[in-house]
Amino acid sequence: MKDAAPQTIYLSDYTPPAFLVDSVHLTFRLDPEKTRVISKVDFRPNPQAKSRAFSLHGEGPALQWARIDGRDVTPEITETGLTCEVPDAPFTWEAEVEINPAANTALEGLYTSNGMYCTQCEAEGFRRITYYPDRPDVMAPFTVRIEGSDPVLLSNGNPLNSGPGWAEWHDPWPKPAYLFALVAGDLRAHEGSFTTRSGHEVALNVWVRPDDIGKCAFAMESLKKSMQWDEDKYGREYDLDVFNIVAVDDFNMGAMENKGLNIFNSSVVLASPETSTDATFERIEAIIAHEYFHNWTGNRITCRDWFQLCLKEGLTVFRDAQFTADMRSAPVKRIGDVIDLRARQFREDSGPLAHPVRPDSFVEINNFYTATVYEKGAEVIGMLKTLVGDEAYFRALDLYFDRHDGQACTIEDWLKVFEDATGRDLSQFKRWYSQAGTPRLSVEEEFADGTYTLTFEQHTPPTPGQPDKAPQVIPIAVGLLGPNGDEVQPTTVLEMTQARQSFTFDGLGARPVPSILRGFSAPVTVTRDSSTNERAFLLAHDTDPFNRWEAGRDLARETLMRMAQHGGAPDRGYLDALAAVLRDDTLDPAFRALALRQPGQDDIARALHEAGHTPDPEAIFHAADRFGAALAEHLKDTLHALYTAMDVPGPYRPDADDAGRRDLQNAALALKTRLDGGAAARTQFAAAGNMTQQLGALSSLMAQGLGDAENTAFAEQWHDDRLVMDRWFALQVAHARLEEAPKTAAQMTARSDFNLKNPNRFRAVFGALAGNAGGFHAASGAGYELLADWLIRLDPINPQTTARMCAAFQTWPRYDADRQARIKAALHRIQNAPSLSRDTAEMVARILGD
Ligand SMILES: [Zn+2]
Repeated sequence: MKDAAPQTIYLSDYTPPAFLVDSVHLTFRLDPEKTRVISKVDFRPNPQAKSRAFSLHGEGPALQWARIDGRDVTPEITETGLTCEVPDAPFTWEAEVEINPAANTALEGLYTSNGMYCTQCEAEGFRRITYYPDRPDVMAPFTVRIEGSDPVLLSNGNPLNSGPGWAEWHDPWPKPAYLFALVAGDLRAHEGSFTTRSGHEVALNVWVRPDDIGKCAFAMESLKKSMQWDEDKYGREYDLDVFNIVAVDDFNMGAMENKGLNIFNSSVVLASPETSTDATFERIEAIIAHEYFHNWTGNRITCRDWFQLCLKEGLTVFRDAQFTADMRSAPVKRIGDVIDLRARQFREDSGPLAHPVRPDSFVEINNFYTATVYEKGAEVIGMLKTLVGDEAYFRALDLYFDRHDGQACTIEDWLKVFEDATGRDLSQFKRWYSQAGTPRLSVEEEFADGTYTLTFEQHTPPTPGQPDKAPQVIPIAVGLLGPNGDEVQPTTVLEMTQARQSFTFDGLGARPVPSILRGFSAPVTVTRDSSTNERAFLLAHDTDPFNRWEAGRDLARETLMRMAQHGGAPDRGYLDALAAVLRDDTLDPAFRALALRQPGQDDIARALHEAGHTPDPEAIFHAADRFGAALAEHLKDTLHALYTAMDVPGPYRPDADDAGRRDLQNAALALKTRLDGGAAARTQFAAAGNMTQQLGALSSLMAQGLGDAENTAFAEQWHDDRLVMDRWFALQVAHARLEEAPKTAAQMTARSDFNLKNPNRFRAVFGALAGNAGGFHAASGAGYELLADWLIRLDPINPQTTARMCAAFQTWPRYDADRQARIKAALHRIQNAPSLSRDTAEMVARILGD
């Protein structure tokens, strides 16, 4: 199929569908190269529609025949679908198409992966399966018959009937086509069950290839916890007889919430202590929960159109974060989320790809599955909850589920339930959905006669297409500490609505130290002049764990910014305060590990750019290295005791407590390795009983240019395990220094086990290269050139992954003229590649600002 000239789609152009669907019957005759799909769809005119023109989406299916009410018709086929004369009354459409799953390397629609059939339809993959109104506001119950030689044949909903070589499924819940799924293969099930609170027993299955059957127990436990939590917290029960999860090796995303048949990238299902790190276990728990929670926030209530993607994603990310906070440590989860938000969303918001949480136009919706839609979308919901309070939040959610069950909704619908439940006017709050960019909050303070005044000023820098911004509603959680460290004002939420606004606190005996934006109550950047001493004071005394961590983070970031520009060493006050945190046994080890971790080099580059400087990636790399060395030297008397104290006795458990201890132990090991030539890391590597310790030791060694023998041994031990080898590939590139990084990445692509068609392996190498700031931005431009070469090769195979990986180039405006020229040359080279996909063309044009 050739792409039509890229067409921009606008939110303001939305019109209701001309026809609605009452029921869908699909028959699949599976064949790797010649699958036949027979569809029977009952349409009726939509009374809300302005037009009666009948058209169906379709990209690629070869139409064999079509009938309307049993009579043959000859539709007009276009590049994006078909049109046909139809009656102005209900009618039945039937058609047969042929598709080629084996040739589908884009992994959208129906494709084969290691011998199994599977589908990915969100956002617009269903149109590659057959002709259909492939838009989320057309919802219908589906009945599916699968004919094929594989022993396991799965689709959405409940099993209806089956026999040798066929199976039938029926999904009674009306759904849009993007939630359709089909899986066929030689799979085994790890079985379980869950009884809902109204007594309905649900059969649970995690389906995997036979070799992986021993790695499903944790996913199953996570699923049960998720089901229980959604009942307890949100009152949401599961609504089918069966819930199936399938692990697939070749997958563009993390996982997909298809109704009753979730399909997962195998990297976020399969887990064992020997092959998975603690972080992977936590990620699996979170993603299983996220996809499960979509059953209500996404499936029962879906999006009217793709501009509303944040309606389901922002809310579901928020819900999965609440779940993880309940299952593990809430402060640690919050800190981790903010680290991630700054690294990915603030980065997006400050460059050419900045867009609102609800975009108003797109060429290819696949390019908008972004940190802004997901993570900032979740932050917006968190702010809403902070503003209205817990009780009103859950009241509004109950109203949302009551009012909109079975509907395809908009952000307006969502905000309306909060307005109706609370009586608040949310028209100004709505700007969080329409204005791009990260607001900057500056703070002034005054103290006189026992009255302390905080004056905030908000300003959001221009973003593409949005030169001027209006003031937003910013909930600012503030606490005040007295000179002795006691809290004199517990956390209170200030509601800022104006461009400049003051808030006063009376009756104070002495000038307090403010703790501003506690819990990171809004996704903004705070700028405030304060001394190292004051931050060290907050690092030692703040009662809000987030801001306690933040105080240390601010100090580390400012230190690294200064060292990257002017050289020098970390301030002693900071090092002493950090050492005190590390030695404080009353603090959660996971929290201490986070306090010890440096800001990323890309974060430092962004901070320097925002402060008006041109970041030098090599200088930042060397500053980070010297910073680590100084930290290790300063802590040398503490590290060994800390390392030993964090030993975890007994069998491996991936729970928050044990994982936190191992995390702090590995963080201590990374510093120790700078001092002992790798002795402790080699010992840990040799004795490691789990992947967290094995990988932690190897990573510590490689970060210091050590561990060749361990590195080789690791690859030999795990060469058969594709997921562990993904980690190994990434590690090689992540730890290569500066100009070595693109060379190492090139060597990885030359290996026989590098596979361009597997997104996990591609991302392992090139995600690691893009994440290695010093290496990717190495002065020669070799990093840019290598990535461009491979994106040009990948685009005809997998446009979606190619387009997403282009985001590595989005930070070009930060850098010096030479790097800018080299990045632009790489982007122009991609742009000029023959028959570039619509996905990649849009991304490159946006990054270049065309
Ligand atoms: Zn989601």
